[in-house]
Amino acid sequence: MPFASLGLSPALAQAAVASGFTAPTPVQAASIPSVLEGRDVLACAQTGSGKTAAFALPLLQALQSAPQQRDPSVLVLVLVPTRELASQVGEVFSQFALALPTRTRVAVLYGGVSINPQMMRLRGGADVVVATPGRLLDLVQNNALRLGQVQHLVLDEADRLLDLGFSEELQAVLQLLPQRRQNLFFSATFPQEVEALAGSLLRDPVRIEIAATEQTQPDIAQRAIVVDAPRRTQLLKHLIEQHQWSRVLVFVATQYAADHVAEKLYKAGIYASPFHGGLSQGSRAQVLQEFKDERWQVVVTTDLAARGIDIAQLPAVVNCDLPRSAADYTHRIGRTGRAGQSGVAVSFITPEAEAHFQLIEKRQNQQVARETVAGFEPTAVAVNKQPPGTGGIKGKRPSKKDKLRAAAALAASAQADSKD
Ligand code: AMP
Repeated sequence: MPFASLGLSPALAQAAVASGFTAPTPVQAASIPSVLEGRDVLACAQTGSGKTAAFALPLLQALQSAPQQRDPSVLVLVLVPTRELASQVGEVFSQFALALPTRTRVAVLYGGVSINPQMMRLRGGADVVVATPGRLLDLVQNNALRLGQVQHLVLDEADRLLDLGFSEELQAVLQLLPQRRQNLFFSATFPQEVEALAGSLLRDPVRIEIAATEQTQPDIAQRAIVVDAPRRTQLLKHLIEQHQWSRVLVFVATQYAADHVAEKLYKAGIYASPFHGGLSQGSRAQVLQEFKDERWQVVVTTDLAARGIDIAQLPAVVNCDLPRSAADYTHRIGRTGRAGQSGVAVSFITPEAEAHFQLIEKRQNQQVARETVAGFEPTAVAVNKQPPGTGGIKGKRPSKKDKLRAAAALAASAQADSKD
């Protein structure tokens, strides 16, 4: 099916093809006609399925018939949870906008960098704004832009936007928007909070759920390697060398661990860099770009990089620490196997984490065979494998206080990473 048959203008259909998109992906084929009709859309699709173009192409077309704004009003507002995703989505809009006969101004706004250049940038007006909620509100407070004319609202990665720390800002942004507008919700997962917001915001939405068929299911081989916690970095090094992965994204639980593991690998002669919310925005952008340019072989990160980030040809993802939820697991492993490529997602299962991984497997309705790697066989026994009443591994089982402390540290680190 060609792009033009979805109702896109010849210029935009041509721009899609020029980007190397020979045919629409299922989420694009399902969304584009409805967005062009002006309908509200609630779309749930696998990560890496082409969601960005599914809203960018038809919204750019809709802008063609809208009158040009002279004052700093915005017609299309795309809210995203991270700075990196803002840049990425903004780039897609800007690239397709080049194909249009009239000039379309795209502004990308996020925190962690000086606000002044963004204020200057908005002086000339912007038709499309791609923003993280916090910086958007700062700019509105500074009268750098107004949201009273927004005609199309997109929530990209809506589940993450509703995470702790974002929902209040999101509500504040929604208060500034006009009642009459088109609403598009795109996300890879739809937890209850998203359903509730969708229920209150969307009018008679077209629900799009792309089933994970052979064609749309990313080709990701999942592996679970049992290993003792202190040996994980050594095992990681061993796997990188054994498989000669050209690029690996490694997930850990905290910013400290990201720094620590990256440093250990670097000292062992592997080009590894940390990437997390504790770095300056300039460093974050630089590491990501250098990773894309293949100047870093390994990037060690927190869940900051779990969502939305598109790194073409990423052959492997390694969960050195398991994610907190099954949804985060889906997002993490979805960084590989994108755009029709195959990939491998390796999870290290320490004896302490076995029970948690079983929960993740249950949630995603899939079992992953446990493996051992020669020379890295675990010496401890999985906590859940203990006969009932034996109390697990003596001295290794965390106390209630330990668990609370660990949860607080994890939450603080995640909070620092997701805040913009
Ligand atoms: P997204 O889900 O928007 O992050 O897109 C994931 C990747 O798929 C990006 O690298 C896009 O450039 C690519 N992509 C999007 N649409 C298509 C298409 N119709 N054909 C081939 N690749 C696509």
